[in-house]
Formats: sequence, structure tokens, C-alpha cells
Amino acid sequence: MTTEAETTERYDVVIVGAGHGGAQCAIALRQHGFAGLIAMIGREPELPYERPPLSKEYLAREKSFDRLYIRPAGFWKDKAVTMELGVAAMAVDPAARRLSLSDGRNVTYNNLVWATGGEPRRLTCAGATLAGVHAVRTRADCDQLMKEIDDGARTIVVIGGGYIGLEAAAVLTKLGCRVTLLEALPRVLARVAGPELSSFYEREHREHGVDLRTGVAVDCLLGSDRVDGVRLADGTVLPADAVIVGIGITPAVEPLLAAGAAGGNGVDVDAHCRTSLPHIYAIGDCAAFASIHSGGVRMRIESVQNAMDQATCVARGIIGDARPYVAFPWFWSNQYDLKLQTAGVSAGFDQSVIRGDPATRSFSVAYMNEGRLIAIDAVNNVKDYVQGRKLIEAGAHANPIILADTSVPLKQHLLI
Ligand SMILES: Cc1cc2nc3c(=O)[nH]c(=O)nc-3n(C[C@H](O)[C@H](O)[C@H](O)COP(=O)(O)OP(=O)(O)OC[C@H]3O[C@@H](n4cnc5c(N)ncnc54)[C@H](O)[C@@H]3O)c2cc1C
Repeated sequence: MTTEAETTERYDVVIVGAGHGGAQCAIALRQHGFAGLIAMIGREPELPYERPPLSKEYLAREKSFDRLYIRPAGFWKDKAVTMELGVAAMAVDPAARRLSLSDGRNVTYNNLVWATGGEPRRLTCAGATLAGVHAVRTRADCDQLMKEIDDGARTIVVIGGGYIGLEAAAVLTKLGCRVTLLEALPRVLARVAGPELSSFYEREHREHGVDLRTGVAVDCLLGSDRVDGVRLADGTVLPADAVIVGIGITPAVEPLLAAGAAGGNGVDVDAHCRTSLPHIYAIGDCAAFASIHSGGVRMRIESVQNAMDQATCVARGIIGDARPYVAFPWFWSNQYDLKLQTAGVSAGFDQSVIRGDPATRSFSVAYMNEGRLIAIDAVNNVKDYVQGRKLIEAGAHANPIILADTSVPLKQHLLI
């Protein structure tokens, strides 16, 4: 007979989730001289890898998977980070500081770092679970989609006009697929950008041959065991060899909420990324925090920058050098030959100003709130991104008329 003590492994730090945040937390702990025992529990079978290329260079086959690893395999061994991959954390007992794993084992921790990202939201309509319906969140998702394209899938319907859906549409169009993109809201990118940027990307996608439709509701997916079409609420039937669903994520925080952590849309954390449960931190896509860059509104930020910087913040906290999380938010998206760089958080803007002519495919949109510059979306415009970012970080006010004048470099607004 095996006793519980025998099946329990003890670690100083247990990190749940071997993605961007989890990997960076272990890296930062070692960089800051932490010598304790670290374990990383990851549901996916892979060592930590970069997720953004999944809808970009990896799907386009411009980068092989072995170029996506955040660190080579030997690194984790050298740094004595125990990797438990293909295993999920199922339940947390905060009083005993114990975690139960999907393979029946238990691990105990002094500090637990929850870095689980989220599960792709699924459609709830009929046909949602048919073969040929894909998310783009993991390597496995992408590999299955790529295999179906290799096997002849050419007519693809993408449901969701957020960054992932748009990036996938751009790559698949380049690969020669016929792509229809469906967005339920009146414009793409509605949750993350202003209407100017949405119109620009809608036009670009249509010019590249994507049949992009906004304000459309999906009634159901059609097919007997494999998807072969999408029926819209108005009765239109779109043929489909495969369907991609990119309608956001549900933060993977059930075990924490079940253990009593405060939260709802993600798990709530304070300025040091601490949850309401003792010795449990949360970082990255699954952590909801009151960002100083969003006027203190509690939000989750789904970006590599946020996951990495929160990871470093937590590592510092664990080694006794706690500093509040104040890192500046930034993001990027690649579609066709367009590089979008975003700085700041545009949510809550009351005015937007276009700098430059979108028809030139190099321009930016500046977002303001009560006269202060709060965010910038720069398309093929590194200069505006770099200078705009400095202005936002400085909390600068700007005159919208001068802001629209591209003959005045953004950096000059610091002096105006
Ligand atoms: C296709 C795609 C493109 C993107 N492009 C960009 C981009 O261009 N720029 C940008 O800034 N961001 C981009 N993002 C977002 C970015 O990848 C995420 O914000 C980032 O990965 C978040 O890191 P994380 O550590 O919070 O979560 P993740 O990197 O998602 O890692 C979480 C890990 O935890 C695992 N896990 C979940 N539950 C459990 C459990 N119970 N037990 C064990 N393991 C668990 C998951 O399987 C996953 O491997 C993109 C995301 C995707 C999917």
C-alpha cells in the first residue's frame, strides 16, 4: 500500500502552466539567484514554446516548431527546473499548500504560481464539435489544421474577427485557401481597437481576397461527422472544408476558484499578482488585475508582454524583493506585410486621432482620454510606435489637431 506521504512531492515553488508566463517565472527565479526546488506542471506535452507564431510563421510554415521553444531542452535541466509535462493540476488545497495532479500524484509548495492561460471559447450551436472545427491555441490545434490543409482542405470559414482569426485568415489566404471570415459585431477588432483600425484591416483583408462579413450570426455548423458548411442566421449556407473558431478564451482558473480564490473572469490578483489565497500568485492571460494603465479598471491582458512581466514581478516577490506590477503594456500583430504595434490600453478612450493616410499602409491611430494620450496603434510605423509609447508612459497631454499633423513628430508633444 502507498501512503499519501509517499505520493507527495515537495517543492519550494510550483508553477502551473508551462507557457509564456510559467517559463519566464522559472527563468526569472533562477536569474535572481533563487536556489529552491522548482517544478513546472504543464498540460501540453511540449516544453514551453512561443504561442504567437502559431497564427503567423508556424501556420505559414515559415518557422518549424523547434524554432519556437522559449529555451532549449537542456536549459531546464541545467537550471534544475523539474518539468512535469502532459499533466494537469486538478485541485488546490490552500490550507495544506497541496496540489492534486491529473495522474493521481500530489505536490506541495511553499509558493504556487498559477499561469494557465485560457481555453479557447467553443461555439455552443449545433455542429460545434464536428471534426474539422479548430481552435488556434496550441501546437496540437495548429498541427491538425495544417494536416487537413495538406489533405486538401481549401475552403475555410474563420469565425471571429479578433487578432487570431484575422492572422489565420491572412496566412491561409497566402497559402491559396478561399477564406470567409465571419464577425458577429459590426466591425472586426471591436474589443481591442477603434473603428479606424477596424476599417483599415477589413479593407486589407477584402483586397487580399478574404470574403469578410461583419454583423453576421452563425446559426449552426453543418455536416454528418465532419464539418462541410456553416449556416448563418439569415439562412445563407457557406461551404467549408474546415472551420476555425477564434472567439476568445475562458481563463483556466476553475481549480483556484473552486478553492475559494476571488475572481470570475480570471482570478483576481493585487498589485503584486497575489490572489486572495495565501501563497498563491496568478499571472498572464488568466490573471485579472487593476492596471494603472487602464485607470485602475480590473482587466485581463492577453499578451506575451503581460505574461512575461507579471512572471518577473512574481519571481521578485518570491525572493523577497517585491515591487508592484506597473509594466507598460504593448502588443503586436502581423497580417500580410502589415506590422501592427500597439502601446498602452485604448479601452475607455473618448477621442481617436489618425496620423497619416491609411491608404499609404503606414499610419497610426492615437487614443486619448480627457486630453491625455493613452494608447497608440501603429501600422508599419515604428517611429510613431516608439515615440508614442514614450508620450503615453510620460502621461502626456496632446492637442488633437497637432497630433494629426504628421509633420510634427510625436516626441515633440512632450514639449508642446
Ligand atoms: C495563436 C495566438 C497568437 C498570438 N499572438 C500574439 C501576439 O502576436 N502578440 C502577443 O503579445 N500575444 C499574442 N498571443 C497571446 C499570447 O500568446 C498569450 O497572451 C500568452 O501566451 C499568455 O501566456 P500565459 O503564460 O498566460 O498562458 P499560455 O502561454 O497560454 O500558457 C498556459 C499553459 O498552461 C497550461 N494549462 C492550462 N491549465 C492547466 C492546468 N490545470 N494544469 C497544467 N497546465 C495547464 C496550458 O495548456 C498552457 O500550455 C497569441 C496567442 C495565440 C493563441
